[in-house]
Amino acid sequence: MGQQGEECRFTPRIEETERALREGFLWLTFPPQLEQRYRDDYRHEAAHAFRYRSIFILFLYLLLSSGIYALMPESERLGWISWYGWVGVIIVGASVLSRIRSLDRWFLWYAGLGSMLAVALSVAITGIMHHQVANQLTHAAIMYAVVIIYSIVGLNLRTAVLAGWIGGALGMMIASAAGGAVDWDVAHRTYTGSSLMGMLICYLIEHGHRRAYLQAQLLTLAHQRTEQYAEQVARLSRTDPLTGLSNRRHQDEVLDLLWRRARRDQFPIAALMIDVDHFKHYNDHFGHLGGDECLRTVAASLARFAGRADDLAVRYGGEEFLLILSGTDLASAEQIARRVLEVVHGLALPMPDPALHITVSIGVASMVPGPEGDFDILLQRADAALYQAKQRGRNQVMTDSPVILLAGNGSG
Ligand code: GH3
Ligand code: MG
Ligand code: MG
Repeated sequence: MGQQGEECRFTPRIEETERALREGFLWLTFPPQLEQRYRDDYRHEAAHAFRYRSIFILFLYLLLSSGIYALMPESERLGWISWYGWVGVIIVGASVLSRIRSLDRWFLWYAGLGSMLAVALSVAITGIMHHQVANQLTHAAIMYAVVIIYSIVGLNLRTAVLAGWIGGALGMMIASAAGGAVDWDVAHRTYTGSSLMGMLICYLIEHGHRRAYLQAQLLTLAHQRTEQYAEQVARLSRTDPLTGLSNRRHQDEVLDLLWRRARRDQFPIAALMIDVDHFKHYNDHFGHLGGDECLRTVAASLARFAGRADDLAVRYGGEEFLLILSGTDLASAEQIARRVLEVVHGLALPMPDPALHITVSIGVASMVPGPEGDFDILLQRADAALYQAKQRGRNQVMTDSPVILLAGNGSG
């Protein structure tokens, strides 16, 4: 019965994701578990993206550097490049680190620290280059650096803000220490202005990324849920809900294929038709639920007799079961049937009369399929043998009559 109430394991995550999408994430955070998963996925994704982005960043850096170099007064060039060259080293360094997969989870650290150093250097140079033209050029470089760390490196807003502002402060300190007075008017127009713009861009990027992440998660989860449902439906469609054994539909499918194979390869298939004795009596005494429990117990022990890949234990009807045993001749099937008889008796399920236990009657047939007919013949024979077992007083095994056996196996 348990299978019917089976919970979908994806539902809670789908609901959590839908809620996050519905309620929004103005402050760029999800509920704790979702946030944790997002961060784990994000780090790998960001590190991976940085492998390509860093090349683009390096290209921008070289473009900007060559532009500044061309405009820079000759006397200042060497001094400038000896500082600004380090920014290039930082970009290349971070790019190399991003190629080491085991470092993916440290992406925010190395990319964040690298960004901070790049901004610090860019800002510090403004205090070091006193020549007016050179100084103006270095201010332009600050804006580039700031916009790049907020929008192209792929940092989350929190890390980018820390890197941008701490880097800026550090740069100002170095600039002051180097004797350059910080021109706040210019600094605000360049560094502060581009930082604010960068933060806004970074916020929008992260917000969009988080939304896309949730939507992608929903799609994946919904797909997995559909697959789980399909699997569940397929399983339910072939099992008997009370006992968990195969139902008649599954029996027909399996037996049909098995029958054809047995016809082609000429091996026998045995059928054990098993019926609980005096079950009506049991039911009347112990009630329907008691009867159900008894059927489940009997079914569970029958299932153990169908252990091989092509064997099948079926709930054939109310208190009637069928064991299909592939490659089993009549003699072996009869032996197995006797063991079934013993095992069920050994369950010691009490009958209304305390001196008695639940027993079964079994009709056994085995056939190598002939050129004509389908597996119904086999089932009819097992059923006829079962009828005989009942007639003879129950709690016994009857095999298919030898005459019919000859006709079936001999001619087939
Ligand atoms: P016999 O030895 O001749 O087989 O007698 P019997 O009483 O077992 O056979 P009969 O066909 O007269 O009764 C079968 C009973 O099985 C009647 C029916 O209520 C009961 N039964 C069938 N399906 C279920 C079920 O799913 N649950 C329960 N509890 N009882 C069932
Ligand atoms: Mg019965
Ligand atoms: Mg019956």
